[in-house]
Amino acid sequence: MASKKEEASKKCVTEYYVTLLVDKYATSPKKSEVFYDKEIALNRSLITTVLDVYVKSSKSCFDPVRCLDGIGASGVTGLLWKKHICDNVAVTINDSRVKAYERIKENAELNHLDVEVLNRDTCVLLHEQAYNFISLDCHTMAAHYLDSAFRNLPKDGILAITTTDDAALHAIMPEIVLRNYEGFVARTFYSKELAVRLFLAAVARAAARYNKGLIVLCSIAFKSSFTVVVTVKRGSAHANKSIQNIRKLIHCTMCEDRTFYPLTNYPIELPSSLLGCGCSRNFPGKVAIELGPMWSGSIFSEEFLVAVHHHSHKFPWKVKADLLLRQLVAEARCSCKDENKFPHEEENFIDKYGNESDNENQAKRLKADDDDKETVKSGNLLSTYTVENELINPLISLESNKDPAPPFYFNLHRHSPKGPQLLRVDTVIQFLQKAGYRASRTHFDRGAVRTNASLSNLTAVLTQAANVN
Ligand SMILES: [Zn+2]
Repeated sequence: MASKKEEASKKCVTEYYVTLLVDKYATSPKKSEVFYDKEIALNRSLITTVLDVYVKSSKSCFDPVRCLDGIGASGVTGLLWKKHICDNVAVTINDSRVKAYERIKENAELNHLDVEVLNRDTCVLLHEQAYNFISLDCHTMAAHYLDSAFRNLPKDGILAITTTDDAALHAIMPEIVLRNYEGFVARTFYSKELAVRLFLAAVARAAARYNKGLIVLCSIAFKSSFTVVVTVKRGSAHANKSIQNIRKLIHCTMCEDRTFYPLTNYPIELPSSLLGCGCSRNFPGKVAIELGPMWSGSIFSEEFLVAVHHHSHKFPWKVKADLLLRQLVAEARCSCKDENKFPHEEENFIDKYGNESDNENQAKRLKADDDDKETVKSGNLLSTYTVENELINPLISLESNKDPAPPFYFNLHRHSPKGPQLLRVDTVIQFLQKAGYRASRTHFDRGAVRTNASLSNLTAVLTQAANVN
């Protein structure tokens, strides 16, 4: 009788040729062990494409790549990997909940896919086994997994974490953010990127405890979730350098101007002087607050995103992923020129350097490893050789000759001078670029521009543009 009832509670869904039996009445991951979230199918497609880039990059220390879908639920992510990337990956799907474990086994059989299915505590498994491609779809509990995720993650290994932490995303419950990510957050017009950066600071700290330096490959906020994809460099020098990216942000509550604190242990005499706006002089009382500490480093790697976009063409989600990936590449570039054209696909880093013989690659890797050791020994920052060498392999580069995209963005509704009409985002971008600034749209907010212009410069450009139009 019970099994009949169970059968009746199942329904069949298909995601990119993977058939899944999921709970029919599941409304949230808390209420159902086999929760299937259709909303974040695009996140899963992107993670699968990232795995494909990784498999082809020859950066993996295991052959085949050891992949873990650590919180399987229906098992969809791991099954997508096996279905679309096939033989180059050894896929393990784990879920600590018995019902989910049984359903994953059932779903794997249903699709005739050869994957290992485990019923272990995710953290214990991560402490015991080494995987070099890990995806954790954490719902709201991402902070619980950070320590164990980095314990055995090898050099150049990839960790993708998806969280639907609405409280953090919208700064509704700052106390939760403080507990989980050790940073202070307030409601702002750029809260999505704030949430990502607060989360990344917690990720970088966890990596640093295992002497690993963090490199952020991409950060995507999509609907009510966000996904960050990171890789690591081993060694205390890398860990130290990465941890220096964790800084406080000073934010003006009147005009929303903001800037990161400089890297110094000496107290700043007048912190509000760091801001470009004059609000603290013009308004009574305290108008500036400190947010964070949070990740101040780059949150995208342009080269990596170009590779992901290129690889996405061969998958059935190419059309759906195309727009988002194009937008992410443009955002990571945040160019000062009007570049609507997309980078030539021949420039893709894997195609460009993938033809080199394994010996050449091996020689480069050995040389890079030697340099790593020297760097660690001397405690200096990266040598010039390492920097140049790593430019050849952008996937693992900690240094880049390209300036990362400027942090945060300005919402035009919030910052436009009062006037008859609101300028279109693309128009504002063109005006900023003409004035010599870097500018792009941002996927975090459709009504905002990412730019290296200060708020006062942006206001000047907006005023000028409003007069022209
Ligand atoms: Zn201000």
